[in-house]
Amino acid sequence: MNKAESLQIARCLRSSGYQAVSSFERADLIVLNTCVVRQSAEDKVLGTLGLLKGLKEKRPLLSILTTGCFVNSNIEGLKKRFPQVNLFFKPGNYSKLIDWLQKQGLPVAEQEITFPISNSPCALVPIIQGCNNFCSYCIVPYRRGREASYPVEKILREVREMTHQGVKEITLLGQNVDSYGHDLPEKPELADLLARLNDVDGLERIRFLTNHPKDMNLRLIETMASLPKVCEHLELPFQAGDDDILQAMRRGYTIARYRELIHSIRGIIPNVSLSTDVIVGFPGETEKQFERTLSLLEEVGFDVVHIAAYSPRPDTIAWRKYKDDVPTETKKRRFATIEELQTRIAGEINAQLHGRMAEILVEGKKRGKWYGRTRNNKLVFFQSDADQQGKMVKVEIDRTSPWALQGQPKYTII
Ligand code: SF4
Repeated sequence: MNKAESLQIARCLRSSGYQAVSSFERADLIVLNTCVVRQSAEDKVLGTLGLLKGLKEKRPLLSILTTGCFVNSNIEGLKKRFPQVNLFFKPGNYSKLIDWLQKQGLPVAEQEITFPISNSPCALVPIIQGCNNFCSYCIVPYRRGREASYPVEKILREVREMTHQGVKEITLLGQNVDSYGHDLPEKPELADLLARLNDVDGLERIRFLTNHPKDMNLRLIETMASLPKVCEHLELPFQAGDDDILQAMRRGYTIARYRELIHSIRGIIPNVSLSTDVIVGFPGETEKQFERTLSLLEEVGFDVVHIAAYSPRPDTIAWRKYKDDVPTETKKRRFATIEELQTRIAGEINAQLHGRMAEILVEGKKRGKWYGRTRNNKLVFFQSDADQQGKMVKVEIDRTSPWALQGQPKYTII
């Protein structure tokens, strides 16, 4: 979401005549888009604000704007603490940014502040902002506010415009995409939005994230299976393998329900790839409870696992209610245990792709090799002298690792 919003901000600034530069030192305007999901992220923000304070002292005309989840409701308090910042604005609150630019006498094309477009064939498309769930560890609802969906027609308009500019793949974004539409007058569901997007000419692939096991329904899975452009990949965080921990996290499902969901998904979309998020060291997590997380990881066999060590976030329910009593060393060990397990599991899953043909959409070039993703979201590298940017290429996989695949291009489709 932050990446999508940074692109939106960049697009807005370009419309005001700004150009990107390669370092803080060369910039006239710096927009810091922040994340505070964990303490380590917040520490980075504080470090950067300290650095920028030094820059501003040397160059008083430098403008510094700050947005993202660091910006809480007490903007006056933030201004006092960080006088080097010219403007704080809440994530997605672009009217504040526009006002500020207009006050500087700069032109702003308001219609530009929509969805990001870059020269990549892939675009990120926020469809719902905020979250109503209040999982006990999570700061997002406090900083991003309640759920607000973008209307279907607006999303369609933007996506059509993107396809005219060469976008072939979109990823619909939301803290909880399964909540999409409940706040709109017609109450469309994510499944309805997917069906409409599937009809957009020129669009080849549709992805979406993140799902919530409490809210995901069978209709969505069946719709995914029936729409040719919707890719066979799901991001479905389970966070912890123990029901008591899940209850303390206020996740709203049990492991039995999660298992059933995975069973239904694999029954309907057999070749689906699955990613998940896991938190280790939630307050009170015992060794036995942690082992249940390991068992579930082993049982399901996810393609990708995003691991986080619990970090208490101010104002959250867990911060108020529970002591952060799992020692840092234990959290680190549990983190490393999952990393090791997942490296093996992902290595085994990817090894099965050796010798197979993969269809990839080429996103760019890194260290002399073209790269792109399969419909299952596998990262594939290959070598070619031809310009493959934005093309759909069939690659025969001849090397696999837990993190990426390599292969030989066989032919370019479009
Ligand atoms: S659903 Fe996701 S964003 Fe919403 S409160 Fe829970 S963890 Fe945070």
